[in-house]
Amino acid sequence: MAEKWIEVSGWVNATRVVGRIAFLEVIDGSELTVYTVVVKRDENPQAWELAARAKVGSAVSVKGFVPDKQISKRGIEVRAREISLVAEPVDYLPLDPSGRTPALLETMMEHRYVALRIPRQRALFRIRALAVKAIREFFEERGFLEVHTPKICGAGAEGGATLFRIDYFGREAYLAQSPQLYKQMLMCGVSKVYEITPYFRAEPFSTSRHLNESWGVDAEMAFISGPEDVMRTLEGLVLHVFERVRSSARAELNELGVELKMPRAPFKRLSYSEALEILKSRGFDVKWGQDLGSDEERVLGEAMREEGYDAYFIVEYPWEAKPFYIMRRGDLSEAFDLDYRGLELASGGQREHRYDKLVENIRLKGLNVDSFSFYLEAFKYGMPPHGGFGLGLDRLIMVITGAQNIREVVLFPRDRQRLVP
Ligand code: ATP
Ligand code: MG
Repeated sequence: MAEKWIEVSGWVNATRVVGRIAFLEVIDGSELTVYTVVVKRDENPQAWELAARAKVGSAVSVKGFVPDKQISKRGIEVRAREISLVAEPVDYLPLDPSGRTPALLETMMEHRYVALRIPRQRALFRIRALAVKAIREFFEERGFLEVHTPKICGAGAEGGATLFRIDYFGREAYLAQSPQLYKQMLMCGVSKVYEITPYFRAEPFSTSRHLNESWGVDAEMAFISGPEDVMRTLEGLVLHVFERVRSSARAELNELGVELKMPRAPFKRLSYSEALEILKSRGFDVKWGQDLGSDEERVLGEAMREEGYDAYFIVEYPWEAKPFYIMRRGDLSEAFDLDYRGLELASGGQREHRYDKLVENIRLKGLNVDSFSFYLEAFKYGMPPHGGFGLGLDRLIMVITGAQNIREVVLFPRDRQRLVP
């Protein structure tokens, strides 16, 4: 193999001078590759001068050769012929961009753009981007239409305390907490839609899995024969994303030290009642009808793992624990949750598509029918049976990358404290 000419623009992550040889560790800010730029004073005094006094954090452009025989142990070795200093830091860096000295999550959120110079950090966000690409692939191959519904809304999906209020030219409006109502209305004219979208929720969360602005993958499909059709689609989507990340993000997974296993499929279908029994046998008494809390979800996750399931659906939820738009079946409902090792990834189900029943459901939940008139309107004109799900994108990335805190996989998280950067 002959030596190869190369031009690299990027940032200096570390420097070292050993006698008459200067080394610069440079990253190009796109892939995970690290370059070790080598300059010998005897060969190239000008470039050596520059390399020897380059500061960590500087932006540089390097031209040179990748030698046949690589001596450097870290990264791709480049024998520099020409180095130009593009920009120098005017302050000390807030963290070590080589990642050798670990930084606090707090510091990384504050200076995410610098943190992204750490290969491990870049790996997280490259996987996130790849997952989104895989999600689009999945839906496009199946004829789903990508849609964009409003984020400024006149009514909330589930009403009440979790809405961010805004002043809309003197009228009260809300930030969308999900595309629920709109994606359902579209079922009156489009049979399959999906949206990748932010959710805004005003709850004063203080957990490692909630943000006030999070991203969801929403899908809705018409002409279904039951919630199982929707679960199969969601299961297919999750498996496709796992498969794609496993095959196309090997370097990234390697950088993270993650061995991503395909979840056992088909995912387990566990009924709410069965879940309650398992919980009872492990000392958790949940009253029938109540939603499961995070401790209960975790314990259930452990029980499922013992059976060999990482991913499992909880089905046949009591209707009282689910929102008005979910189809009712006596005391039960056609709703499901998808959990992965004790973390809720998605909620979905078959919706009520019959106008009269839907109005009744709204009343039964104690909501005001008038404030849903724009939504109900769509149910008057041949609304077919339909269902869908909302999948938390940030949570999906958490489980794929093994991140323990949702803030690790969101560039600029919005939580109770954090409004800038
Ligand atoms: P949880 O019970 O975990 O608070 P939820 O049931 O209120 O979630 P859904 O309305 O079912 O949430 O939203 C669909 C999916 O979106 C959830 O399963 C979750 O993965 C994700 N999600 C919802 N709210 C948040 C949030 N505040 N932060 C991060 N992800 C969220
Ligand atoms: Mg839910």
